[in-house]
Amino acid sequence: MSQEFDVCIRGDGVVGRSLALLLARQRLRVALCAPGPQAPKTIDVRAYALNQASRTLLESLRVWPGEATPVGAMQVWGDEGGRIDFRPPPGQQELAWLVEAEALQETLAQALRFAPEVHRLDRADDVPAKLTVLCEGRASSSRKLLGVNWQARPYAQTALAARLLSQEPHGGVARQWFCGPDIVALLPTGGAQGRELALVWSVPTPRAQELLALGPADFARGLHVALPADLAPLSLQSQVMAWPLQWAQADRWVGPGWALAGDAAHTVHPLAGQGLNLGLADAQTLAQVLTERAYWRDPGDLRLLRRYERQRKADVLAMGLLTDGLQGLFSHTDARWQALRNWGMNAVGGTPLIKSWLMRQAMG
Ligand SMILES: Cc1cc2nc3c(=O)[nH]c(=O)nc-3n(C[C@H](O)[C@H](O)[C@H](O)COP(=O)(O)OP(=O)(O)OC[C@H]3O[C@@H](n4cnc5c(N)ncnc54)[C@H](O)[C@@H]3O)c2cc1C
Repeated sequence: MSQEFDVCIRGDGVVGRSLALLLARQRLRVALCAPGPQAPKTIDVRAYALNQASRTLLESLRVWPGEATPVGAMQVWGDEGGRIDFRPPPGQQELAWLVEAEALQETLAQALRFAPEVHRLDRADDVPAKLTVLCEGRASSSRKLLGVNWQARPYAQTALAARLLSQEPHGGVARQWFCGPDIVALLPTGGAQGRELALVWSVPTPRAQELLALGPADFARGLHVALPADLAPLSLQSQVMAWPLQWAQADRWVGPGWALAGDAAHTVHPLAGQGLNLGLADAQTLAQVLTERAYWRDPGDLRLLRRYERQRKADVLAMGLLTDGLQGLFSHTDARWQALRNWGMNAVGGTPLIKSWLMRQAMG
């Protein structure tokens, strides 16, 4: 048997694993390369908000985790009376679902055990393949070796993620506050009737360091200061994890015999919970382009890969601009900006056309 693979995927995050399963369905020989653990594994405390498109994709791969929490409504507040409420469009019950990061990785790992076309390799060197796809996340080292220019704009913010318990049931409602420089999201987990919440709190980086140094009770107190006074008491239930934030994209996503996907191609601010949804859409589009290729065309054929890049770049740019615009709008401290953005939120909230456009973007 030839030692060459059809496709080598470098990086076994959610995007790399999903792509491997999609390509295995096409009977392609896939190498899924991930370096062995460099440090003791830490539990990822995040829960991802996944949209309908991601759900459909993961269900088709039979890796949709059973315990996903439906989001029936989303409430977004500004810092001076602005508010937008989102509800599912007619005929739909949910806006999104919250899926535990660890549970999703585990379901994908189990599915890969039953995919004989996928060979898991614990190797860092080059693996011969007709096509190599980098799914190494935003800090991808192989991307650099390909000479790709990574255009990154770091935000002066760090995202803190943790699990909380509220004294009141969340009722399947996701809530987000744009409060001064902070952006706080409380996302429902633990089932529709649960009281568990996934926190994503974006704060100026120096303050993130101070918050990380606090004990659980002081951290919860600090969080309450940033939130409305009438919110039910919250207690910290996990370790707090931190991610420096940036908006970044690769200038080229493809070349002869290689392609980028997921965070290795683009990274957006998590305020709209869209990074993984975009990455899964990359995996789906790339797999689709490969399955539709003429029988004589190689998977690494540049013309084929350009089709993938063209189909994905505009969507990703639109989401990047939207999240960057919101982040920028709410980082101004000037009172005129504050009035304008809260007026803008209420105007958007009262304009069904714009609201449904925003919802369509988020729901994929
Ligand atoms: C706080 C926070 C909250 C978020 N919430 C949401 C959300 O609600 N919804 C959503 O859609 N998105 C969300 N995101 C974005 C989401 O986390 C990312 O978009 C997603 O994890 C990207 O997946 P990936 O597989 O491309 O990359 P990663 O998850 O970064 O995985 C890359 C993998 O490649 C491995 N790797 C690295 N280098 C190499 C190498 N040289 N060789 C082989 N393997 C390598 C890494 O170890 C890792 O396993 C959030 C992000 C943050 C920071």
